[in-house]
Amino acid sequence: MRVLIVEDDDSVASALGDALRATGHDVDRVDSGVDALLRHHDRDVVLLDLGLRDGDGFDVLRKLRQVSRTPVLVVTARSDERSTVRALHLGADDYVVKPIRLRELLARIDAVTRRRPASSTQADLVHTNGVTIDLAARTVVARDGTPVPLTAKEFALLAVLARRIGTAVSRQQILDEVWGDAFAAASRSFDVHLTQVRSKLPSAELITTIRGFGYRLEA
Ligand code: CA
Repeated sequence: MRVLIVEDDDSVASALGDALRATGHDVDRVDSGVDALLRHHDRDVVLLDLGLRDGDGFDVLRKLRQVSRTPVLVVTARSDERSTVRALHLGADDYVVKPIRLRELLARIDAVTRRRPASSTQADLVHTNGVTIDLAARTVVARDGTPVPLTAKEFALLAVLARRIGTAVSRQQILDEVWGDAFAAASRSFDVHLTQVRSKLPSAELITTIRGFGYRLEA
């Protein structure tokens, strides 16, 4: 397995790297989020620390998920529930709390790569009443062939719902996936963007509000 370790603590990174090499893995290591985004391409799995020297691992995770489906295991000292939930919302495949128990980590790497090989492709086209959403090309086309012009943020919001079409998605989850946080400013921005998306789609009824919970894209 080609593993990318994203870890700014040299001693943790080298101990982990040695252990993974000893079990037959090919290991590459970077110590910053910027390098993680540059070097993940040929890797089968990413082990991502949350506290990095150039910023927050959640940000790296969100950006990684916009361009890649490579399995990501968050490996962090943060054991609080909110961090775990955020990481999973942002697309982490698993969450491991330090100190690392090596055999468990190896088993988890094995499990996530088995579930989602890096090369696999999901269904990228989502059809709903009147529009086709292409998650790979990031385009939306109406039934009559007219493109629906969405901004990057508007598309990201719609894509969160489209990946789970027919299912209720919580407001918190959309905020986590698109904005990376749930602060008041993001929440206001969310409402503005949702209104825009609804006005651009052929029918405002495509997105149902589930009061007190979130939203659903109708199949
Ligand atoms: Ca760290």
